[in-house]
Amino acid sequence: MTSVEDGCIFCHIVSGSIPATISGENEMALAFRDINPIAPVHILIIPKSHLENAMAIRPEDCAVIAKMFELAQSIAKRESVSETGFRLVMNVGDDAANSVGHLHMHLIGGKRLGLMG
Ligand SMILES: [Zn+2]
Repeated sequence: MTSVEDGCIFCHIVSGSIPATISGENEMALAFRDINPIAPVHILIIPKSHLENAMAIRPEDCAVIAKMFELAQSIAKRESVSETGFRLVMNVGDDAANSVGHLHMHLIGGKRLGLMG
């Protein structure tokens, strides 16, 4: 696992050099609101250390992945979607319209989402 990658917008959000609306954090993960929300609740949860995408996750990254989900759980409760339901999505590559090469999980909810695809 590398730490910070030059030119990575999400690494710059972690360092604070690019502003974002922070929703929460723990020692290994950071959450902030998506700038183009597709639902009333649309938050991105990222590892503070740079990981390219879900294909780059290795067994030694298990702690940071667990911390991302821990943060997702606390945000889902705070945003009042833990009971009504929400979606967690990680996109990989062009066909999934992944636009930032720093692992991120979308937490989407606050309305009826419908089927995927
Ligand atoms: Zn990065």
